[in-house]
Order: sequence, then structure tokens, then C-alpha cells
Amino acid sequence: MGWSPEGVNRLLERFASSPLAPIVRKVVGRERLSPGDGLVLFATRDLHGLFALANFDRERRHGNVGYFNVNRYLNPTNLCWVDCGLCAWARKPGVSGGYTMAVEEAVAEAASGWHDGITELHIVGGLHPTLPYSYYIDLLSALRERFQGVHLKAWTMVELDWIARVGKKTIPETIAELKAAGMDSCPGGGAEIFEKRVRDVICANKITGEEWLAIARECHRQGVKTNVTMLYGSVETAADRIDHLVRIREMQDETKGFLGFIPLAFHPEGTQFANLRAAGGLEDLRVIAVSRLMLDNLDHVKAYWVQIGEKLAEIALQTGADDLVGTVTEETITHAAGAKTEAGLSRLQMEKLIRDAGREPFERDAFYERVVRDEKGRVLQANRHDFTASSSAAPSVGLPAHPSEIDAAIASS
Ligand code: SF4
Repeated sequence: MGWSPEGVNRLLERFASSPLAPIVRKVVGRERLSPGDGLVLFATRDLHGLFALANFDRERRHGNVGYFNVNRYLNPTNLCWVDCGLCAWARKPGVSGGYTMAVEEAVAEAASGWHDGITELHIVGGLHPTLPYSYYIDLLSALRERFQGVHLKAWTMVELDWIARVGKKTIPETIAELKAAGMDSCPGGGAEIFEKRVRDVICANKITGEEWLAIARECHRQGVKTNVTMLYGSVETAADRIDHLVRIREMQDETKGFLGFIPLAFHPEGTQFANLRAAGGLEDLRVIAVSRLMLDNLDHVKAYWVQIGEKLAEIALQTGADDLVGTVTEETITHAAGAKTEAGLSRLQMEKLIRDAGREPFERDAFYERVVRDEKGRVLQANRHDFTASSSAAPSVGLPAHPSEIDAAIASS
């Protein structure tokens, strides 16, 4: 897809006398890069070369397409006992600014603030000290009932571990029960950097990297796909990043359960590391490019526009990324740490962003299939769900339609 033999030859010629030439030959030949290759890419001063190579890989996989989805964030509680040094968002119980939504409040919140018909709810929160196990099951069940056909991407591996502890259940039991209640897939947060030395500094009380991977493995075994992230720009080294990427790659070889990889730029503002300087734009792009090249068995590398900014995300679509994540209505977590981006973009804004990057926007669903909408923007088909059929069966709250219709449906329900 995307590259002619002449184009590939030109790429090889461009690097003919470059120290990157052996790596370029491997990428062109679809050979796996070694950890040493990854370190070379993190150190190279030939950023144009690195970006060109990552772009080659990205275009060979996805042609000129730039993916996004229309999603809404739902954070049912920001109360959390874990006290990660990296976090500016969570609150301890009793501290001002903390909140917890009852199940009905969370469902009402999920139905509010939509720019467009959403196809996915992204649900994460703090590790609440006292909420019972039933809360998590009830919340998923209620969301599933109200938002049929909307993909429920709920709870990170860190939260799954906590929910299992709360319920005094095993991880496999917990995942099975949450899945039965409506959990379709899981977000990739909480992976941070797997290396213990780094975790001991930035998130000492969180589950270990090994535990994170073990829970992801169990999700994948039960057919629950997950994303995976890497938090960069705190106290990790290039070797820690490469170790993180290699562990992801090994797990993907084993399970094929990761849908996509999202590099997360650390935002120091308001955290215990406010003295650190956030990664610069070139570093953001370098991480995306190296990740693209190291993660040969993951289809999608995403540029999270909320964190790196819309303009840089646009450029990232030319340096290795193929997906801008989503419209992310009501993002709060990165904004608590000083992100200056909008708290959500509309579908049309997202399409413009991708066109401005020279790519063809592709509104995807959870399976990376194209979302079908009518001329008014109503969702007809997404997540292998026929919304026209459910519209006639249940013409009420929860159908991804225009916000005014949803408000009216809520009022009459
Ligand atoms: S990063 Fe997650 S686990 Fe850590 S304090 Fe924040 S909400 Fe809690």
C-alpha cells in the first residue's frame, strides 16, 4: 500500500551513506528491529531521516488514511488512594475537588455534552477506596442498556486489579463478569514505564509493570482487546523506553490483543514533578516515530492530540502516527496537568485536522471499520451494530444522534 518500488529505492538511496542504513534495510525488508536499533533511533540526530522512515512504514500499512473516532470520556470518580507522583487529576477523599457520580449520574453525564453521535465511551477513573464491586457492574450494565451499539471501553489494567480486590475475586473472574456486564474493551492507561526503577519514582503504589502485562494477557485471553500506552518525559531513559516497547511487542506476539499504542507525553504541571520540563515537540515526534518502527506487530500508533497539541498531532500523521485517537468530548485528566488544548473537538474539526495533514480522514469504529452516517450525521452503522434497527426498536435515550434529540429523549424518558 502506498509505496512504489521506485519510491522504496529512492528511500534506500537517501540513506546509502547514513549510519541508519542497516536499520533502513531492515525496515524495508520487514525485519524486526533489535533493542540496539531502537537506541540508535532514539539517539540519531537525523530526525528528518527518522521521520521519513517511520512515515514509510506508516504509509505501507495504512496508505494515506488518518483514523479517528467520535468518542466521549467518562470519569465516574476522581477519588483515588494511590497517590501517584505523576498525577495532577486525582483527589484524596475529603480533599476539595473530589467527586463520585452515582450510577444514574454517570449515565446522565455520558448522555450530555456530545458534539456528534458518539460511537465509543472511554471510561476511566480513580481507585476509589470504598465503592463496592457492584458499582462497576451496575455502571456498565446501565450504560450498556442506555447506549446500545456504543462501544464501552472501560477500566485500565490498574483499575481491573483494584476492582478484583474490592470484589475479593480473581482477575479472570472479574474480567469475565465485567465483560458480561458490557465491557467491550479496555483503555491502555497505567502502563506508564514498565521498569520498576521508574515506577518507584513516578507511581510507587501502582501495580508493577509485570502485573499490568499479566492482566492485559488475561483480558486478551478472554477476547477483550486493550490499548497500551507509554508515559514518556518523566525520569525514564531511552533504554527504559525501548524495554517498554519490547515488552509490548513480546506480549503482542503472544496474544495479538493490543488494538493500538498511544505514547503519552508527561505533563508535569500540578504533579509532584512540576520542576521537570515537559518533552519538546521534536521529542514527541521522535517517540512516535521510534514506536512505529519498533512495534512491527501493532497496527496502530496514535498521536494523542489532547496532549501534544493539534498542530503537532497533524505533523505526527506524517512521522509515523496513523490515528488521532478521538474527538474526546470532556477530557479532564490531561487538562488537570496543564494541557492547553480544547476539551474536545467536533467530528468536522477532526476531519479538517486530518485533511490539513494531507491525509484522508477515516472515521473508524472500535473494529477500525468505517462508521456509516446519514447526511445529518446520524450514525447508521458502527461497531457492527445497526443503529437504524435499534432506532425502531428503542427510539429513546442512548442512540448516537444529535444532542438536541438526546436531550429531548432524556426529558421524555
Ligand atoms: S494516575 Fe491513576 S492510580 Fe495514580 S493517582 Fe492518578 S488516578 Fe490514581
